[in-house]
Amino acid sequence: MSPPKNPVKTPAKSPSVSLANGRPYLAIPGPSVIPDRVLKAMHRPAPNIYTGELVEMVHGMVPDLKAVARCSGDVALYVANGHGVWEAALANTCARGDRVLVVATGMFARNWANMATGLGLAVEILDFGDRGTFDPGLVEATLRSDTQGTIKAVMAVQVDTATSVRNDIAALRAAMDASGHGALLMVDCIACLACDDFRMDEWGVDVMMTGCQKGLMTPPGMGFVYFNEKASEARARLELVSPYWDWTTRVSPEAFYQYFYGTAPTHHLYGLREALTMILHEEGLEPVLARHAALARAVWAALEAWGQGPGAGHVEMNVADPALRSHAVTCVRMQAPHATALRDWVTAHAGLTLGIGLGMAPPGDPAWHGFFRIGHMGHVNAHMVLGALGAVDAGLKALGIPHGPGALEAAAGVVAEA
Ligand SMILES: *Cc1c(COP(=O)(O)O)cnc(C)c1O
Repeated sequence: MSPPKNPVKTPAKSPSVSLANGRPYLAIPGPSVIPDRVLKAMHRPAPNIYTGELVEMVHGMVPDLKAVARCSGDVALYVANGHGVWEAALANTCARGDRVLVVATGMFARNWANMATGLGLAVEILDFGDRGTFDPGLVEATLRSDTQGTIKAVMAVQVDTATSVRNDIAALRAAMDASGHGALLMVDCIACLACDDFRMDEWGVDVMMTGCQKGLMTPPGMGFVYFNEKASEARARLELVSPYWDWTTRVSPEAFYQYFYGTAPTHHLYGLREALTMILHEEGLEPVLARHAALARAVWAALEAWGQGPGAGHVEMNVADPALRSHAVTCVRMQAPHATALRDWVTAHAGLTLGIGLGMAPPGDPAWHGFFRIGHMGHVNAHMVLGALGAVDAGLKALGIPHGPGALEAAAGVVAEA
């Protein structure tokens, strides 16, 4: 039988079916998911910036900002991203020509070091690579060899977001103390404050920086520099500090505008107020940290399973030792170009955005396509993490990337036990 002369025409393209439609999930390591409550708190008419409710609200928020860092010192507020507070921290502690020692376990530490070089500091980097932590003995020996005490500060990153290595900051302090050196300890907690445990006073950290857009669940745009008495004395010894970065007036403002050296980021402040209420006064800091720890273990359990059997050599966590892994972000190694293919697949087919690799291979190098990162920081719960892992599992299958079985079972098991 010959085909009919005028067959019913099907449209050239049938309406496309996508399993990505629905609420998207941005699982990159910052900016993180913003709670609807935070967005709602920002949705309001412009407030008065001279007196009244906003002014009272910010006075009242400073103790909460200190509480998340377990800090009894000062905190200066900036309209800035993380790079801004990197510069603020250096501007208040070091002068052109001063020596600083950078303890690097990833790209963020190296980039902060580059900024220090750009400010005219004499930078020495102890680079411990991308897959492990620092050697306290080497830090101690380096400081001991500085018999004149010319090194002004040791700069470290608690969680390097590029590698997901978490450094033991108390151990770094111990190494510095053992050397008898008087350098300041300055720590970048931008990736992990309110995700991984941090204790400014107890660990003897002199200066700490963070931003509002990761563990603090607020849209990017505010940064914070915490400092103690010793750092304050270092600031007092400087001849010249850029007025905008100077933290002095910001921590003891006589007028409200001095908190931010100008107009306050009014709506961000309402968002941050809501986020701090959620973290400190509703869920509680310890439960928040415990939630991050449990969700991180679920992510690791899945990755562990994918990397077994046929997945050996195809899916691997960047950090082998669980004690050195962050609870905020996990960096994954695959065979290039599988990581990029997988990221593209989960975005197109599941509405999930995973983080790109950073600093592990140069952009343009084919090896760049062998890394991705999962952010599990901030406003994230079990169904979101399990959903993200399910999407990755589907992507591995759809793309035919070799992987071990039982990943979702294993992750669900961790959640069930937590
Ligand atoms: C995100 C991040 C930064 C940079 O913050 P920006 O807001 O992008 O400038 C610096 N250090 C660490 C550890 C980070 O995670």
